[in-house]
Amino acid sequence: MLDLSRLNPQQLAAVQHTEGPLLVLAGAGSGKTGVITYRIAHLILDKKVPGDQILAVTFTNKAAKEMKERVQHLVGRKGSKGVVLSTFHSLGVRILKRDIERLGYKRNFSIYSTADQVGLVRQIVREINTTDVKYDAEKIIWCISGAKNKLIPPDKYIPSFGDDIDFMAAQVYPRYQSALKAFNAIDFDDIIMLTAELLQHHPEVLKYWQERFRYIMVDEYQDTNSSQYLLVNHLAAGWGNLCVVGDDDQSIYGWRGADVGNILDFEKDFKGCRTIKLEQNYRSKGNILEAANAVISNNKVRKEKRLWTAAGSGPPIDLCIVQDDEEEATSVVERIQLERFNRDTPYSSFAILYRTNAQSRAFEEQLRFEDIPYVLIGGTQFYERKEVKDSLSYLKVIANPLDEVALLRIVNFPKRGIGDGTVIRINQWSIEHECPLFEAFGRVAEIEGVAEATREKVLAFHRTLLDAAQAFAAEGGLAEKGAELFKKLKIEEEIFRTIDDAAAARRKVENVEQIINSMAGYAERIPNPTLSGFLEKVSLMDEDRFSGKDKKDHGRDAVTLMSLHSSKGLEFPFVFLVGLEDEILPHRRAIYEDFTVDEERRLCYVGITRAREQLVMTRALYRKKYGKLQERIPSRFLEEFPASVLNVQQSGVVKETSPEEEVKSAENFFSKMKEMFG
Ligand code: ATP
Ligand code: MG
Repeated sequence: MLDLSRLNPQQLAAVQHTEGPLLVLAGAGSGKTGVITYRIAHLILDKKVPGDQILAVTFTNKAAKEMKERVQHLVGRKGSKGVVLSTFHSLGVRILKRDIERLGYKRNFSIYSTADQVGLVRQIVREINTTDVKYDAEKIIWCISGAKNKLIPPDKYIPSFGDDIDFMAAQVYPRYQSALKAFNAIDFDDIIMLTAELLQHHPEVLKYWQERFRYIMVDEYQDTNSSQYLLVNHLAAGWGNLCVVGDDDQSIYGWRGADVGNILDFEKDFKGCRTIKLEQNYRSKGNILEAANAVISNNKVRKEKRLWTAAGSGPPIDLCIVQDDEEEATSVVERIQLERFNRDTPYSSFAILYRTNAQSRAFEEQLRFEDIPYVLIGGTQFYERKEVKDSLSYLKVIANPLDEVALLRIVNFPKRGIGDGTVIRINQWSIEHECPLFEAFGRVAEIEGVAEATREKVLAFHRTLLDAAQAFAAEGGLAEKGAELFKKLKIEEEIFRTIDDAAAARRKVENVEQIINSMAGYAERIPNPTLSGFLEKVSLMDEDRFSGKDKKDHGRDAVTLMSLHSSKGLEFPFVFLVGLEDEILPHRRAIYEDFTVDEERRLCYVGITRAREQLVMTRALYRKKYGKLQERIPSRFLEEFPASVLNVQQSGVVKETSPEEEVKSAENFFSKMKEMFG
């Protein structure tokens, strides 16, 4: 029997309501994710439901991993066997792997990253743009992505009137989509869109998954977009045992098409649904909670809820006013050292949260300088580095020879004397003959206008890939084969040959070695490791980057650095919320372009409520921009903090001004702004 005595009456009711639709709508730290993990344990231990009939979906890999750990803690590793605890994207890939052929793709499809998308869109724009106007590929991708999240197919896409970019996007979208299909590739939005399509139009597939998942749970439901919503609804329509939990105050993905209406309309969508509210917060000390409640109450459109805690008020929230970026980093790192010295706090108790990934640099430098281990979540993505992408592209082509973006990356990496002219010629021929590019390389003898010597080089390249594919198809360890391939290709030599700075070259070589290490790690963890399986893992990785040192930092006692968006659902005893300035939090774009300051306030609320014991906020008086110092304005959210919970300090010493004055100065500023902008 599972011990449910820890749960409060509302939590208990949510855990035991296993049949029929259930909505848990509640504020931060009230145990929503806990309800999901307890439900899973209750289903397995008390209701004897086989693990593989249970599905729980969340947004980030880290959240999925933590949920898995919590479930294992309750029912043991063996007990939780078969339970599918995954992100929306891994769930989509799982479903597509089985049946994507019905949509005209092959099962060994590639998953394109943003960089791959940009490359492809640029190429298409070059082909169709007859004017001098320059188009920003990322903006076009943004439009296409928006359409996909709303499940609008290329032929139904209607651009907004008078919007040039959108007009271009409408032309690019159909070509982009057919190119992807020809390359047997899908992008991130396709993962969800195609899955929804598969379930919608193929009843046998739908039936299979509906029967399979008898109990479905979704965490952070407030952040689902239309396609995710549809996906969940399809799956749950079978048994009707759907439990969603979320908090409208933490809806922070509106910019990516998330629709908070999904959670607010749940009661309408699922007739006979039971709704449970949780109001006790178990995470944060009183002062932190009071601040969170106060800040979020400034949003007009929300479901009113008031969280309370039985914990004491705890220490006040520190607001450190620092001179500039550098001092912000040193003061945070000093505080970490001080806490460690005074209270023996482990590094893993600290998190530094920021609005934009670019803010991490100063903190990283300072942590490295002080030799403090840290883990950076998100940010400059390891798998987006050139040398890593190049090397990985070999593996991609071997797994999916139709992947032309990857193929074109490696034609001349390492340099093998196949010029652009030749590649263009072969590409043309392949289009004229409707022959995949990879095959065209092998048939170069038939292509006119390619010099004899070049032909040999092209054939040698083609041969290398075929041999490698054969090697990977044979028995033996994945990592060993990868290492052998990279050695044969002389990637290391190429890096040292082309990069002058020896230390930089060394780092790049290490990065390539890191691919092999992660292959080895993957092969150890998975029962039937395959090359496509590995590449899929890599594509779906939205975090777990490396911390500048090496992967040994993983699982070690380390400070966490991440954006507010990635911190959703997590908690830390000690949280630094940095850069509380206007144009950072709230973000510049939200103030002047999108007018989504409310969403920024929710982001601020998410940040505050990650803290258990202590929250420290920072704001700088000046910051360097393009090498020049610029005066900064305090975040408008600061004036929403109750003065009674704030302890304002300037540059390490207690500041002369009282919190009230600090708030006053912010107020003055805003009235000035209002005058200026109306
Ligand atoms: P968020 O909105 O940030 O995702 P949440 O509602 O999912 O938060 P949880 O992460 O499930 O909240 O729980 C927050 C903390 O409260 C966790 O540390 C959890 O262990 C603790 N907690 C939850 N319920 C109880 C309880 N009944 N008794 C003691 N501690 C609890
Ligand atoms: Mg949660």
